[in-house]
Amino acid sequence: GGPKVVVVGGGYGGATAAKYVRLFSEGRVEVTLVEPNANFVSCPLSNLVVGGHKTLADITVSYDQLQRKHGVKVVRDTVESIDADKRTVKLASGATLPYDRLILSPGIDFMPTIPGLAKPGAQDRILHAWKAGPQTAALHDQLKALPDGGTFAIAIPLAPYRCPPGPYERACMVASYFKVAKPKSKVIIFDANDDITSKKGLFLKAWDEHYKGLIEYRPKHKLVDVDAATNTLKFDFNDDFKAGVANVLPDMRAGAIAVKSGLATANARWCEVDFLTFESKAAKNIHVLGDAIQIAPAMPKSGHMANQHGKTCAAAVVSLLTGQQPPQNPLYANTCYSFVTAKEVVHVASVHRYDAAQKTMLTVPGSGGLSGAASEMEGAYAFGWARNIWADMLA
Ligand code: FAD
Repeated sequence: GGPKVVVVGGGYGGATAAKYVRLFSEGRVEVTLVEPNANFVSCPLSNLVVGGHKTLADITVSYDQLQRKHGVKVVRDTVESIDADKRTVKLASGATLPYDRLILSPGIDFMPTIPGLAKPGAQDRILHAWKAGPQTAALHDQLKALPDGGTFAIAIPLAPYRCPPGPYERACMVASYFKVAKPKSKVIIFDANDDITSKKGLFLKAWDEHYKGLIEYRPKHKLVDVDAATNTLKFDFNDDFKAGVANVLPDMRAGAIAVKSGLATANARWCEVDFLTFESKAAKNIHVLGDAIQIAPAMPKSGHMANQHGKTCAAAVVSLLTGQQPPQNPLYANTCYSFVTAKEVVHVASVHRYDAAQKTMLTVPGSGGLSGAASEMEGAYAFGWARNIWADMLA
């Protein structure tokens, strides 16, 4: 056979990279994708499931086409370790896969900074729902079980974390559910940051127009511990808070496989890469993309970005495997849509171009922008964005 590429993780970055290595190499490079989940489940739109407006089935896509149409070998397993010298990965099942180039897009994992979450059963009771799947539906079930008048509290970690506007969108979706089903209930946002970090004006407007008295925002609340038995949140300076439903987003870093393989060289959290090839600065022939990387200034940790990392990385890997120079001028667009009601949406957009002198991605001056106001038309765009990007990755 031809050269071998192993891709770790079938999310926004990995599935895209797997498909595009096959396309760009016209089938000459063998691609194996290792992913423990049976299907792809999307984080974008998952807050609609938390709010009860969509189901998990609506945000789930099969890996079948990747395999049948594009010839990617999909292996349902977990990569346990990487041997960078021998160029092999070891799977949880015990099997070993050889590679010429390895592409890692493992997403994020949580840092063990909240001691109370390490107690037995604590993580079954206090959910993050920051990886789409069973926790997404379970968080909605917790809201359903909450008596009217109960409180939903979400704790946001210090930036950088996956999806900057995501927690504020979640607050809107929970409030949209309370407004109809439990009008005496409240949403309280405890943010470790000094202020709302994304689409501030648009979120404040939506909270005022749709959820007056229903959503309360408390900045500078850094969570340091929880008592899961009583759903109590504990902060560095402020009073404890006992919630009806506590939704905690712990501090995040690159997915565990990247950290334990020594690839997370930036503050022991994120993986530094060459932005032309996504090759790790710590290991040869290993490429890292998506949320796991140390991002260039102003580039969000988003699915839209991970999708474009996947294409740039795929083009570079195919070039390197065939003795050609990788493309030298990557240009990315990013659009993050946020639902403020079940139908109305706002967006923030930006454009980023590779700068050869600084060897990083820079925001193109004058590019991008924000919605003027939330609208149903942007709601239609948001669903279109999701359908398109899922098709680009997986169909
Ligand atoms: P993921 O998509 O998480 O994929 C990682 C994959 O790797 C997973 O499938 C995992 O199972 C697998 N994996 C991990 N470790 C291993 C291993 N050792 N072996 C094998 N497989 C492994 N982005 C947007 O652009 N727009 C949005 O509207 C948006 N909304 C969001 C809303 C929420 C609530 C959240 C939580 C996120 C949202 N995002 C959004 C962000 C987006 O989900 C992430 O940026 C994106 O998923 C990153 O892609 P990734 O490939 O890095 O990671």
